[in-house]
Amino acid sequence: MTTNEVLDNTVLAVQRDMAATGVAGRLGFDTPEWDDLGYLRVEYKGQYSSYGLRADEEHEPVATLVLIADLAQEVIAEQDGKIWPTCPAHSLGLHPKQAGGAALWTCKGGGGHAVAAIGELE
Ligand SMILES: [Zn+2]
Repeated sequence: MTTNEVLDNTVLAVQRDMAATGVAGRLGFDTPEWDDLGYLRVEYKGQYSSYGLRADEEHEPVATLVLIADLAQEVIAEQDGKIWPTCPAHSLGLHPKQAGGAALWTCKGGGGHAVAAIGELE
């Protein structure tokens, strides 16, 4: 896969999770005009993430998925004022995490558990 395919697939996976859990907005991914460093940032309702990544670097798919999920969480929290996504069993905010070669949404409730792979929330 080329770098851009990794990034495109990653943004689509997180967008899928948003749609599956009732977040109606679209997740953007580009470099804002004001960014002299040229970072690709996650964007939601006009709000860009506080950091991003460079298109011209190698991006490992699992780590990138965890990063983009984290950035999406940040901009959704800022724009909608809510924690997203949450655990269906515990109502706690989920954390994107790399574990065993997979990118997972994890919950700290009940001693800690994985809820779903990122991109496969229901
Ligand atoms: Zn839970």
